[in-house]
Amino acid sequence: MAEVVVRIRNEKGALASCSQAVSDCNVNVLTGFFTAPGRSRTATLSFFADITDAEGGLSDLRRTLQAMDQIQSVEAIAAEDGFMVDKQHFPVQWAGRRGILMRADALNEMLNRLWAVFGTGAATIIDQMAEAMGRHSAKEIVEDFGARFAVDQLDELIGTYSALGYADVSIERGKTSDFPVVVNAKSLFECESNAKQHLHRRSAFFRAHLRGFMSGTFSKAFDVSEVQCLTDGDEVCSFRVALSEAVAPRLPARLSERAP
Ligand SMILES: [Zn+2]
Repeated sequence: MAEVVVRIRNEKGALASCSQAVSDCNVNVLTGFFTAPGRSRTATLSFFADITDAEGGLSDLRRTLQAMDQIQSVEAIAAEDGFMVDKQHFPVQWAGRRGILMRADALNEMLNRLWAVFGTGAATIIDQMAEAMGRHSAKEIVEDFGARFAVDQLDELIGTYSALGYADVSIERGKTSDFPVVVNAKSLFECESNAKQHLHRRSAFFRAHLRGFMSGTFSKAFDVSEVQCLTDGDEVCSFRVALSEAVAPRLPARLSERAP
């Protein structure tokens, strides 16, 4: 087993030549990824490989790749006993920023610990923490792409939750494109765990995260309520997302008529 990281010139055909060279060395790619950021001159091909059939071993692969014009650098490390951890891609990138990966179980465990220590007070702590996280993520997206983009691409942006592994998320709209909308979160990590362990009803973390995410995207206050939930026996968790009425009170008809 080996881990190989190849920096390639970010140009057409470079990946194909590199892959062919790897194959010609009888190196069998097991798992990996290729990333070629649009504005970068360098692309990265990174993979774990079985080198059992590679007669020339890693040094042959390294030499072959380094001799190619399109390849800038090659790092290849072999594992002694077949166990390898990817240490070459630190820090982990998420949407161009530093990220960390966490098992869903670990996050659920953190939330459960809060419930155990703070009782009902945990609801406020989780709500505030998750709201801030959601708002922060949305603000970064707005900073990167602009507010108009974020609003126009809301359906795609909500897919961030699927990409992060929180839930398989989609938006259901009424006849108009206005709020309220319903956000369906299938296999939501938080409620799946709660439904199994019979610990809590409905989501605290995701609901607040979604509220923060919407507030950060639209720069308005939102109310989010979970109208269907796995913990209530429903098939999917559904969240009604509406503009907050507390911030924009509706004037009684008579009063608004009198307004100049
Ligand atoms: Zn739920």
